[in-house]
Amino acid sequence: MPQTLTDQFGRRIEYVRLSVTDQCDLRCFYCMPKGFRDFEEPTHWLSFDEIERVIRAFAELGVERVRLTGGEPLVRKDLPQLAARLAALPGIEDLSLSSNATRMGKHAKALKDAGVTRINVSLDTLQPERFRQITGGKLEKVLAGLMAAKAAGFHPIKINMVVMKGVNDDEVEDMVAFCIEHDFTLRFIETMPVGDTGREASAQYVDLQDVKARLAERFELIPGVMPGGGPARYVRVAGTDLRIGFITPISQHFCETCNRVRLSVDGTLYMCLGQEHRFELRPLLRAGIDDDGLREAIARAIDLKPERHEFREKPGQVIRFMSMTGG
Ligand code: SAM
Ligand code: SF4
Repeated sequence: MPQTLTDQFGRRIEYVRLSVTDQCDLRCFYCMPKGFRDFEEPTHWLSFDEIERVIRAFAELGVERVRLTGGEPLVRKDLPQLAARLAALPGIEDLSLSSNATRMGKHAKALKDAGVTRINVSLDTLQPERFRQITGGKLEKVLAGLMAAKAAGFHPIKINMVVMKGVNDDEVEDMVAFCIEHDFTLRFIETMPVGDTGREASAQYVDLQDVKARLAERFELIPGVMPGGGPARYVRVAGTDLRIGFITPISQHFCETCNRVRLSVDGTLYMCLGQEHRFELRPLLRAGIDDDGLREAIARAIDLKPERHEFREKPGQVIRFMSMTGG
């Protein structure tokens, strides 16, 4: 029985992104189509017991980090209870959450008490009308959620901004100022051709190397590192505590150090955000597979992990929306 997970290309898998729902209370145009309602059936959702079992198996195979994501994870009822169960699993050192923060005002303290260590919040604009155009939602709710997360003691809080030409690329400097003011970490993300929505939004793709060069004209950027196990490459803005991460799946892919797999709400393991390689765990769980069998199945699944995505070469190939896989 393996003790750790290593794929065919020698990459150690030690991070699971766990999508607890494919539903969301926003409709960011690059992620999910307006009016989209074709969600996974509730009978297919992994229960909290099933999720805990799968994450326990991963932990026994050396996985130390789990991120709760979605869709919008806080749309799943009783999420803090699940978080507490996962944080308590032996071997899980780091339980984090990606959220749009619309419901953070209500749940921030419970999440902190449950043992969530770090949170990332999507925020593409600081302009209310633009926010409505991008997401269909209200900016004030997200800002209130962010402040609630801060008040609950989360630190660092990372802001994720998908930078898009003609949509919000004029706000890069404003977002830097906002993050300095509130002591948030800022991460810029390149638009990925994930799903029809992502593919269409890729027409507004901005190469983050250009954003970095633009910021370097205004600020002194000191190369640095920041913990998290993710793909962002960080700099610090001299004279401030602000760290800025650049997530560049298109202009500079990071597949050779990929350490993760994604578990969707229906129990499918996706090996790569940009490829279709997958393995279905739900039928095995519901057929009564034992713990050894589950660990073996996971190890077999990891063998399917492809070497890299091909967003540049084959931008037309991915059919799932980001909200289905768990971004
Ligand atoms: N709802 C949560 C949120 O928005 O943070 C978690 C799930 S969301 C799918 C995770 C991240 O994926 C967000 O930061 C979002 O901006 C990003 N995302 C979604 N579609 C994308 C795309 N086509 N290209 C790049 N990033 C995308
Ligand atoms: Fe919802 Fe997050 Fe997708 Fe926006 S990016 S639609 S908040 S899942």
